[in-house]
Amino acid sequence: MSDEIVRIGDTPIEQIIEPRTFGKQNVILDATVFTTIMACARLGDFKFNMNLVSINGKSNSLECGSIVHKFLEYYHKALIKGVRKEQAVQFGFAAAELYIAGCKDCTDFIPTPEQPKPKCEHQPNEFEGVRNTPRNSEGYKIGWQDTLDTCDQYIQFWKNDHWVTLEAEVVKGEVLYEDDEIRILWKAKFDWIADTNQGIFPVDHKTMKQRRETLKLNNQFMGQCLLMKTRNVFINKIGFQKTLEPKEKFTRPPVSYSAAALLEWQSETLPYYAKLLLMYNETGHFPPNYTHCENKYGNCPFLEVCQSNPNMRESELKRLFKVGPVWDPTSDED
Ligand SMILES: [Zn+2]
Repeated sequence: MSDEIVRIGDTPIEQIIEPRTFGKQNVILDATVFTTIMACARLGDFKFNMNLVSINGKSNSLECGSIVHKFLEYYHKALIKGVRKEQAVQFGFAAAELYIAGCKDCTDFIPTPEQPKPKCEHQPNEFEGVRNTPRNSEGYKIGWQDTLDTCDQYIQFWKNDHWVTLEAEVVKGEVLYEDDEIRILWKAKFDWIADTNQGIFPVDHKTMKQRRETLKLNNQFMGQCLLMKTRNVFINKIGFQKTLEPKEKFTRPPVSYSAAALLEWQSETLPYYAKLLLMYNETGHFPPNYTHCENKYGNCPFLEVCQSNPNMRESELKRLFKVGPVWDPTSDED
């Protein structure tokens, strides 16, 4: 066996950890890749090996979620820099509005030796502009105006919040598992790390149209707990419902784990699926899982591809998808 590097994500592992062992495979994983592999290997192949993205852009719920994430990201980053709250809110709104309108300089930016970075100094595709979100809500679609109003209500509701922002939108990585065959570097993106007075905890922003229960069996949350050496994450729930009171739309329930549950995930579940991924990669065969074609967000975007005849799949892929940027755990996909 060679000391081959399986690179799914943006950073080759040799840049992060010294290759000190021989004949061991290094794998970099994050919750998005891991959860997709758990769900459907073929979907993982489409998304993270072929880097396919829908030609029609993100769904309306994803776009509205991204607007709120951008708002909170810039709000918290301003707070970290010591900006006053009222002004930090303005930074948040400016970023959210730019996300809605789109920034021409960084969208689909291709780096060249002369110009390695877009002149706006944003991350490539950081402000893509919305394509499936109208100004005002219509039917099942949430409008961007209502999304901005929700941000405003959120700030009003939490105006006396005592949680102290320590970090926002950061990626951390650590080797969470190692045996004779494999070494797994887990990368986690944290929306928000806050000092709540009870301790320092990861907080995940979750926007939603309907109230939904948060399940504990969640790779993202467990990975975050292990990296932060804590047994709790908080979910910063942000509801878009116009009919609910702020106190019902904006809640921060904790998700708590026992030490035994985290250890089981780290020592058994994580290596099992990582090894399965290595096997898929080695054989080049990524089998479909028909039980994942329908999920809580609706149908899988690749459903039509899988439903078409095997000899038609390639042309269906070309018709409905384009090659996007290489997956990187700093992207959000909530
Ligand atoms: Zn830009």
